[in-house]
Amino acid sequence: MTTTTDLPLLFLGQGADPGSERGVQCPGELPPASDPELVARAAAAKAALGDQVFVLGHHYQRDEVIQFADVTGDSFKLARDAAARPQAPYIVFCGVHFMAESADILTGDDQKVILPDLAAGCSMADMATFDQVEECWDVLTDLGIGDRVVPVTYMNSSADIKAFVGRRGGVVCTSSNAKRALEWAFEQGEQILFLPDQHLGRNTAVLELGLSLDDCVVYNPHRPNGGLTDEQLRDAKVILWKGHCSVHGRFSKESVDEVRERVPGVNVLVHPECRHEVVTAADLIGSTEYIIKTLDAAEPGSSWAIGTELNLVKRLAAAHPDKNVMFLDKTVCFCSTMNRIDLPHLVWALESLVRGEVPNQITVDPETAGHAKAALDRMLALP
Ligand code: SF4
Repeated sequence: MTTTTDLPLLFLGQGADPGSERGVQCPGELPPASDPELVARAAAAKAALGDQVFVLGHHYQRDEVIQFADVTGDSFKLARDAAARPQAPYIVFCGVHFMAESADILTGDDQKVILPDLAAGCSMADMATFDQVEECWDVLTDLGIGDRVVPVTYMNSSADIKAFVGRRGGVVCTSSNAKRALEWAFEQGEQILFLPDQHLGRNTAVLELGLSLDDCVVYNPHRPNGGLTDEQLRDAKVILWKGHCSVHGRFSKESVDEVRERVPGVNVLVHPECRHEVVTAADLIGSTEYIIKTLDAAEPGSSWAIGTELNLVKRLAAAHPDKNVMFLDKTVCFCSTMNRIDLPHLVWALESLVRGEVPNQITVDPETAGHAKAALDRMLALP
């Protein structure tokens, strides 16, 4: 099993301060958010650490944090960027827990990965626990189909789940390479167990591999046999885990219809973690990096309704004042766990490092890391 730190990881909504959306598990003096010196303090601590620290900022982070990131990117790009910086002993990961785990797996043993707030988990990753996935595998094995099912897990899963997949000959995927990962998996076996995001799995299987919706079934870990008959499990080409992103899962077909009516000629661009009826109603579908590149290449004067996390959409709108960039949904849709990494937590983490203390280190035990890396390496070797 994965170890993290002396402090327990706070799962979404547990032990957090609902008023501020901040996790309260902070061993030390957290500066108040009202401190007018926060920006200067973060800059001074970062300058004092120099090349000792490498700050990674996920695209969905707040602006107040992103301004101190040495690099920005999606989860996989950031883990690779960290691995490419072996001279930095401290990696401060402004993202969520599973991302920091991946960075720990891919970086050297002498590098320490720090998550400024342990309450920064991911609701999607939390929807597939190790015990639940083991139980699912037992169901498939008892049915006699375990040896023909290849597990594939999205990057947005815990190190335990990546290790589970690695041990059973499966592969990790990102939203950019999910198609290639599924094609590869079908070369290794006859069925796929896709974890933990049912939407990415379904959208890829149906829209990119040409399977039908009936080829996919949804395994609910809270119901006996996943809520499926033996026949359904045997006949499915893709067994989708019943998990989803609480941010991207909010977009609806009604949002797409509404924006098309309100903004003539609008281009609807959404992330593949959105529901199937949303991606089929959109004009373009792609990963966070794809969304950024598409906006970069868009014609001045063009209109874009974007279905992804709000911090990123706001930054894209600010970066493209010559284009009409808007959020797809009418209601606010931040990733609340990403937002838990704020400037006070970043200042606290950096100043702790200046004092020689390593706060909130995320470590993955060697056995788990080895199996998880096998699944990550298979992904890197995909054609
Ligand atoms: S945006 Fe969704 S998948 Fe990404 S960290 Fe937040 S809850 Fe998890």
